[in-house]
Amino acid sequence: MAKVIIIGAGGVGTVVACKCAENHDVFSEVVLASRTKSKCDAIAARINKPWFTTDSVDADDVDQLVELFNRHKPQLVINVALPYQDLTIMEACLKTGVNYLDTANYEPKDVAHFEYSWQWAYRERFEKAGLTAILGCGFDPGVSGVFTAYAAKHYFSDMETLDIVDCNGGDHGKAFATNFNPEINIREITQNGRYYKEGNWITTGPLEIHRTLTYPNIGPRESYLLYHEELESLVLNFPSIKRARFWMTFGQEYLTHLRVIQNIGMARIDEVDFNGQKIVPLQFLKAVLPNPGDLGENYVGETSIGCRIAGKDKEGNPLTYYIYNNCSHQEAYRQTGTQAVSFTTGVPAMIGAMMFLTGKWVKPGVHNVEEFDPDPFMEQLPVQGLPWHEVINADLEM
Ligand code: NDP
Repeated sequence: MAKVIIIGAGGVGTVVACKCAENHDVFSEVVLASRTKSKCDAIAARINKPWFTTDSVDADDVDQLVELFNRHKPQLVINVALPYQDLTIMEACLKTGVNYLDTANYEPKDVAHFEYSWQWAYRERFEKAGLTAILGCGFDPGVSGVFTAYAAKHYFSDMETLDIVDCNGGDHGKAFATNFNPEINIREITQNGRYYKEGNWITTGPLEIHRTLTYPNIGPRESYLLYHEELESLVLNFPSIKRARFWMTFGQEYLTHLRVIQNIGMARIDEVDFNGQKIVPLQFLKAVLPNPGDLGENYVGETSIGCRIAGKDKEGNPLTYYIYNNCSHQEAYRQTGTQAVSFTTGVPAMIGAMMFLTGKWVKPGVHNVEEFDPDPFMEQLPVQGLPWHEVINADLEM
């Protein structure tokens, strides 16, 4: 029995809230806090439980967070606001003795740069305070790391290659929309690609490398190599990995829109003058694009995210292993009113919180998900709506 604060009331926050409410035996009291309280109130009205309350906070402001945490005294904060708020929330946790979990690594607002160094710098302070911080506990990062840890624990003596494959085979019926926060999404995709090979990071042009991969129940889809943050921790935590890459599917229509957005300057993240006001074009674009949280109603099809791993099994024989989850947009909508991308992020965040609160993932310091025992987390995935499947010694197409 424990009290948690969820920060962020977007698509992912909605799912975390609904799933915490379904697991009241673990989450005895829940506070949903965000910058716009009316969004929290709308979610709370849907949940409609006396132990589920709302509050407002500007999570860029450590003092406001400290006041919020002192007033509610939660055991854990589930951060599903934006990556910009990770460090202020971690600071406030240290000041008030609250444990921490998030789904995306810290990013400074003025440069689109993804790395864990800023958050790993908090390791000693969390350890000394006896507090646990769990980083990157969505689907990817998140389940992708748990899947890899599960493969290492139960199947491999040496994992040699890791390919994380992320396909959205769904259709929301809009000309262009992003599946999670547009600003964060477009910053990520327009970056150079990067992958790990034998101790080095190889940089590629944005979306330069692509190939057709076949996804279960979806079929062949063009998949593009991107840099993704979990690669950084996975190659450190599993040093036998010689090559690690991340692939994501995009349709031609999406890529054409993205190219136009970039070519006309709407993906810029620096300030420009507009009628005497400073605006950031990408933030303005977010205001006019469809809200990812509202895409669910007409979304059909499935997502399929998994890990394709090759190496040696426990006896030293060659082994290939593919572990994945498929999630239906319509089923996600039926359960939480959101689409599958929010659902596949929010459910693991709730499970990570459950792992901490039930004492299975308690380790003072700052940790990535693959540093914990994967088994109890893997047990919860199907129970909470994300079943997983394994394919042994098939062609990985890699
Ligand atoms: P949304 O943009 O839909 O929601 C973000 C929420 O955070 C909004 O409620 C917003 O409030 C709130 N927020 C933003 N800034 C602040 C602030 N300063 N103080 C308080 N609240 C704030 O995003 P999503 O729900 O789509 O994504 C949430 C997080 O999940 C992101 O960090 C994203 O990167 C991550 N993610 C992780 C994935 C994974 O698999 N690991 C996959 C997808 C997403 P307001 O309404 O006022 O703007």
